Amino acid sequence: MIPPIARRFVAGESANESLDHVADLNRNGIGGILNVLGEHYQTRDAADEDVSKYLNLIAQLEKTELTASISVKPSQIGLDAGDEVFEDNLVRILSTADEKNVFVWVDMEDYTTTDVTLDAYTQSASRYGGGVGLCVQANLKRTADDLERLAEVPGKVRLVKGAYDEPSDVAYQQKKHVNEAYKSHLEYMFQTFNSGIAVGSHDPEMIDYAKELRERYKTDFEIQMLMGVRTEAQRELAREGYEVNQYIPYGNKWASYFYRRVRERKENLLFAARAVLTS
Ligand code: FAD
Repeated sequence: MIPPIARRFVAGESANESLDHVADLNRNGIGGILNVLGEHYQTRDAADEDVSKYLNLIAQLEKTELTASISVKPSQIGLDAGDEVFEDNLVRILSTADEKNVFVWVDMEDYTTTDVTLDAYTQSASRYGGGVGLCVQANLKRTADDLERLAEVPGKVRLVKGAYDEPSDVAYQQKKHVNEAYKSHLEYMFQTFNSGIAVGSHDPEMIDYAKELRERYKTDFEIQMLMGVRTEAQRELAREGYEVNQYIPYGNKWASYFYRRVRERKENLLFAARAVLTS
């Protein structure tokens, strides 16, 4: 059972709980991006288990009227067990999702996985272009080149700052430099992409910059934020008419994800401490 304090960031252990959460969000004009918690499986069997969960989730989504997509991690669907395991499983998920009209996001993990993820994605994007999107990270120095490559293929792109501690030869270390890169990549995306721009950030400065670029380039964008983070801002942005989608993790591997969220910000730590003291 997930303790109540973790429920701020994780929708539940089951797909049904996550779909109930999406229904609530949809009532507030916000879409859902569902992620089954799990990563770094070392064998094909372990990866296949989560692939089955996604295939079932896609089948469930098809039967609903919910506004929701899914988001998968490469190492969850087999990257650590071999490139071909990842590629096979990506195609299995994308072909089923394509049949059932469910959009699939591919998360980006640490820099050692960028090439293989980008290669598998660009191959699939040509085939399933309308229904896939990839995450790219502003902290990586290579991202300008990757965006040029992504401009050539169909599909959406989610720009994030980057969640992994990367070495200084491949990644900017200072927040200031990551923020500068984020803005510069965002501007490139507005200049170059006609659609499919996703701002994956809670940062008001990045969101305001995207709003400014939208006016300048007359190109739309969507905002993506995590469940439990700036919840009121998500509702407010949706009320203002922006497309907002919330990333919703669920599943029985919730503990490490929850502790990561709690550790990353003082406010979250205080929230957890208050919940423990008042329970
Ligand atoms: P930060 O630089 O962390 O914060 C900037 C400002 O945002 C803060 O000063 C504050 O004003 C506001 N803010 C941030 N957090 C909070 C909070 N908890 N409460 C209130 N205000 C806050 N990373 C990857 O590497 N790969 C992925 O595939 C990936 N997918 C993601 C998908 C989504 C939908 C999102 C939202 C993030 C994803 N990330 C991913 C994580 C991302 O890389 C960042 O680590 C994370 O979003 C923190 O950066 P930030 O842009 O939100 O702003």
